[in-house]
Amino acid sequence: MASSHDLIIIGGGPGGYVAALRAAQLGLNVACVEAEKTLGGTCVRVGCIPSKALLESSAHYHAAQHTLAAHGVKVSGVALELATLLKRKDSVVRQNTAGIDYLFKKNKVTRYLGRGRLAGAGKVTVEGAEGTRELSAEHIIIATGSVVASLRGVELDGDRIGGSTEALSYPEVPQHLVVIGAGVIGLELGSVWQRLGAKVTVLEYQDRILPGMDAELAAEAKKVLAKQGLEFRLGVKVTAARREGDGCVVQYEGGEPLRCDRVLCAVGRAPNTQDLGLEVAGVKLDARGRVEVDEHFRTSAPKIYAIGDVIRGPMLAHKAEDEGVACVELIAKGWGHVNYDAIPSVVYTHPEIACVGKSEEELKQAGVPYKAGSFPFSANGRARAIGSTEGKVKILAHAETDRVLGVHIIGPAAGDLIAECVAAMEFGASSEDIARTCHAHPTLAEVVKEAALAVDGRALHL
Ligand code: FAD
Ligand code: NAD
Repeated sequence: MASSHDLIIIGGGPGGYVAALRAAQLGLNVACVEAEKTLGGTCVRVGCIPSKALLESSAHYHAAQHTLAAHGVKVSGVALELATLLKRKDSVVRQNTAGIDYLFKKNKVTRYLGRGRLAGAGKVTVEGAEGTRELSAEHIIIATGSVVASLRGVELDGDRIGGSTEALSYPEVPQHLVVIGAGVIGLELGSVWQRLGAKVTVLEYQDRILPGMDAELAAEAKKVLAKQGLEFRLGVKVTAARREGDGCVVQYEGGEPLRCDRVLCAVGRAPNTQDLGLEVAGVKLDARGRVEVDEHFRTSAPKIYAIGDVIRGPMLAHKAEDEGVACVELIAKGWGHVNYDAIPSVVYTHPEIACVGKSEEELKQAGVPYKAGSFPFSANGRARAIGSTEGKVKILAHAETDRVLGVHIIGPAAGDLIAECVAAMEFGASSEDIARTCHAHPTLAEVVKEAALAVDGRALHL
């Protein structure tokens, strides 16, 4: 007989596991089907968490060699123990996956280990090591996430020519790493290996890095990262990458083939919809291969919903989480909402790059009248004290109402500073509201306040 639940979620990433926790809080009998042994999805296993652990460790290594001396801290004999660094990263991942196991137990979420498939209205099969199980539920949420996108001509071999997962565990520091794509993954993982000693060449199809982000900030980011040693070749179309002997060769239009010892292909991610039984259940895909949903996360099949990377919108863990909560609240209570105008995005390079809301290009294109106020970290006391003065905060506000429409930050702790701006936008704040909010001194957050003052041409410390 089929095991019966109120709600079954297929996928235990940030979208799926958070949805399961919220459903349990709301009193639903909820189950989560996850194909991998550990919960947490791409984010915890091979994404957000391990990449940030590597960024942190590589920043320490870099600081020991290049910046501690300026603080009067002399370190000699600095050496890299890559195996220890990787072991620490794995242990950070384990702590996080174990944390989700604990939360599932505490909230009485039933966990099924195996591959989930839709098997008709209210039915899911789970194919695991012990055979196939049948489950039933009134509601089903698809939260199967995304997989690395491939590029024609690039022969991914799961080793020297790989995606982000391989780049989280290279067994030695590559002498020369070629990164295809100057997006978020390319810059974060490119930074990791560059700091650890690799020569890193980033090949990008567009004539800029970080497409989609505010162009002024992206240009500044390119300058700062190039100064750190990342080599950028922009406007470059990669046509092939293959193994040759012990190394690899990358070919691109208009340039000599590049020889290197590893290739990181980071040209985006694709929704994970393979072998899910979508046709059996009557779940349609949109033109870009994502599960099609309406504004309430409903798919084309009754009582089947979808959230996270597998649907439209930015592929971000916090977006998936918020959709998981909203979707479950819609199922259990009839209401639930995600404000897509206030989803922050952070690139964890040094310095960090963070944004929320509209870029200048988007406002211009939409014909929205706006005022911009910028303030540099170089004029902030705390930034000088910590020795991180690169970058700026830029606030965009409506020219007539002063409502904040977008905030773009490149600088120290940008990923944390953006939170204040997201909250301000959630509350419909004006730049004047931020400018009149008391900010502790000396903090980096004062740069946000000064940028808000600058919108009205009255920054105090410049
Ligand atoms: P996923 O996390 O992909 O989870 C889907 C889960 O479903 C997986 O565990 C998968 O095994 C399981 N699954 C799939 N099909 C089935 C099936 N048929 N049956 C059972 N289980 C199935 N985002 C950020 O916000 N911040 C970051 O710093 C960040 N860093 C990243 C770094 C890297 C290297 C990568 C690759 C991604 C990063 N992301 C980051 C993106 C983030 O990981 C994703 O947006 C997020 O994981 C999406 O969550 P999800 O729940 O939709 O899907
Ligand atoms: P991305 O979309 O951020 O960047 C891909 C880049 O590859 C783009 O700049 C694109 O122009 C370029 N490109 C595409 N085809 C190319 C070609 N043929 N030759 C050269 N360049 C080419 O994708 P990503 O960096 O792979 O990241 C995937 C997803 O993971 C993103 O949606 C991102 O949101 C998420 N992610 C987020 C974080 C974070 O929030 N800090 C970190 C890592 C990943």
